[in-house]
Amino acid sequence: MVTVTEVLKNVYVLKDRANCCANLVVGDNKALLFDTGSGVDDMNEVVRSMTKLPLLVINSHGHFDHIGGNNRFDKVYLSESDFPVLEDYDKEMLNRWMKELTREAAQPFLTAPKEWKCMRTLDFDSFDLGHMRCEIISLRGHTAGSVGIWIPSERLLLSGDALTPVMCLNFQNHLSKQAQYETLMRVQSLEFDFYLTSHQDILYPKRLVERMINCIKNSEGKKFHFYQYPQPPYAKGRIYLDSLGEEPIALIISEEEKE
Ligand SMILES: [Zn+2]
Repeated sequence: MVTVTEVLKNVYVLKDRANCCANLVVGDNKALLFDTGSGVDDMNEVVRSMTKLPLLVINSHGHFDHIGGNNRFDKVYLSESDFPVLEDYDKEMLNRWMKELTREAAQPFLTAPKEWKCMRTLDFDSFDLGHMRCEIISLRGHTAGSVGIWIPSERLLLSGDALTPVMCLNFQNHLSKQAQYETLMRVQSLEFDFYLTSHQDILYPKRLVERMINCIKNSEGKKFHFYQYPQPPYAKGRIYLDSLGEEPIALIISEEEKE
């Protein structure tokens, strides 16, 4: 079952049973699907029940809970730097994780992501959905190939996992906290009011970005505690909690970076 939430006019969050979200933006001539969820539910069927417009599908990054539904679409674009992530997954691993995330039977993956014919390299940096210009912004940090979609007319940024208030720099293909800091500084200079992340169906205000920047600055020389992500892919790391407020802001770095 996919839950659909309209967060702005023509902007929807589609959340699958594994709590992975895709963002659907419907323009005048085209629609954009940003991510395809874990693959446990048929996002294509849901999208097709919502719009018949030509569809552009882009992955925010290569992690399994964002690319899982890709094979249900003809063409899906992913940043070149994240192809190694996707190519690393085998179907047994994905099927096991899917079961652990949903605790129920899902249609299993029959092929490994590296065999999917739908995959294309993201080789353009802007597109138009019809009176809605969209720009692809590098959000490197969470992964090397993380991208966001900036939609100036809606004053909105779609950010995947790159701008979650608990910044995770401990998963596959992650970069350093310095890279994350540089990304946040660039994001700060973009004009938008709200952003969407991939595991929440709410809009976050842009002011969180400033708190995230401060978190990285404040973390210098502070104590980081051992952390293990409680669900797939169970990555370990070190966490620094900066502040609570309207949303807890924290930074998780890898064990290598801590050393
Ligand atoms: Zn991720």
